[in-house]
Amino acid sequence: MIHLKHTDPEVFQAFKAEIRRQTEQLEMIASENFVSEAVMQAEGSVFMNKYAEGYPGKRYYGGCKNMDVVERIAVDRLNRLFGSEYANVQPHSGTQANMAVYFAVLNQGDAILSMDLAHGGHLSHGLPVSFSGRFFKITHYGVNRETEVIDYDQVAEMARKHRPKLIIAGASAYPRILDFASFKKIANETGACLMVDMAHIAGLVAAGVHPSPVPFADFITSTTHKTLRGPRGGIILAMEKYSRSLNSQIFPGIQGGPLMHVIAAKAVAFKEAFGDDFKIYQQQIVSNSKALAKTLQDRGFRLVSGGTDNHLLLVDLSDKGLTGAEAEEVLERSGITVNKNTIPFDTRSPNVTSGIRIGTPAVTTRGLKEQDMEEVGSYISELLDQPGNDKLTKDIKIKIRSLCERFPLYAERLARYNIN
Ligand SMILES: *Cc1c(COP(=O)(O)O)cnc(C)c1O
Repeated sequence: MIHLKHTDPEVFQAFKAEIRRQTEQLEMIASENFVSEAVMQAEGSVFMNKYAEGYPGKRYYGGCKNMDVVERIAVDRLNRLFGSEYANVQPHSGTQANMAVYFAVLNQGDAILSMDLAHGGHLSHGLPVSFSGRFFKITHYGVNRETEVIDYDQVAEMARKHRPKLIIAGASAYPRILDFASFKKIANETGACLMVDMAHIAGLVAAGVHPSPVPFADFITSTTHKTLRGPRGGIILAMEKYSRSLNSQIFPGIQGGPLMHVIAAKAVAFKEAFGDDFKIYQQQIVSNSKALAKTLQDRGFRLVSGGTDNHLLLVDLSDKGLTGAEAEEVLERSGITVNKNTIPFDTRSPNVTSGIRIGTPAVTTRGLKEQDMEEVGSYISELLDQPGNDKLTKDIKIKIRSLCERFPLYAERLARYNIN
């Protein structure tokens, strides 16, 4: 990083602080992960210097030969990874991928049926201030009040009543398996298209740890940077019959030139996802999540839906005299990063909330296993049971630091930067 250090000491300073934060704290935000050195090298490369508007073989700029190679590799790998017919690797983000699908199937004012944002849905599924909520008529389904899992009878009832053109399955804070066959049945019965947004679970799906939506969905969107462990970005998978429309909705519909350095990094991440160690990694994410869930439950914490089947859990703090916002801060002080999150039927605002969301993808990349999750779970429960105990906060901060040292992240790179 010698050039950055000399050219821009201020940015270098922030970089150093961030690498320290990522190294010395426990990252438990469910949507985050740590990419490999190879993914970072592909993204931080000369691929970023090139305009490549269009698609392989049909570009609007000269000199795109190598761009075509890398984009074709990314598309082929992605189709092989998920068994899909068509893939687009150009969306700059998950939100852009969703936008392109909406614009491909809907006209302004058409109806979408999606998961209630307060029950785990995503902003791009119909938040009133998002483009999705401004341009389309949104209705929501949610989870059952008793079981806290998706109520498929309610989804069917809502679909019959509102006749949406598009039904969306997929969420940002749902700890259970999604039943894509039931969604497809409802979509068929009511004449809707089905879009599955698998942003959170794409890695689990690639490894066969969560059922695949590919046999059921007309459209699948995802991010590449969550459990899939690639660079920040989006993708779309679909049936071949939608290829022309989706291609043109991404470019020139809503984007200009693709981020070719990100596409190169996506290609590398997809290659990594074919490996056996990736499958073991994804299984370990779920085992870790279950181990953490059990530890917290044994210590008296209530989990939404009573547990987890995937990479995340939602802790209901409403009987603990602590808001989600307060809990987030209490844990942060000891070096555990999570985020406050509404729980279904939450009475508090999204800025305060009654819950926290905890995820295991990033700590599993570091190498933590079930017994480490028990250790972390006991720290979390002690901290949340005694939020004002400064000595405890300091003691656990030291223990978290030493836990992180036992599982070094980017150790080689740190040595090279010589910043320790
Ligand atoms: C994270 C997420 C997205 C959006 O991702 P961005 O890349 O931040 O736009 C979309 N849908 C779901 C369900 C997500 O969890």
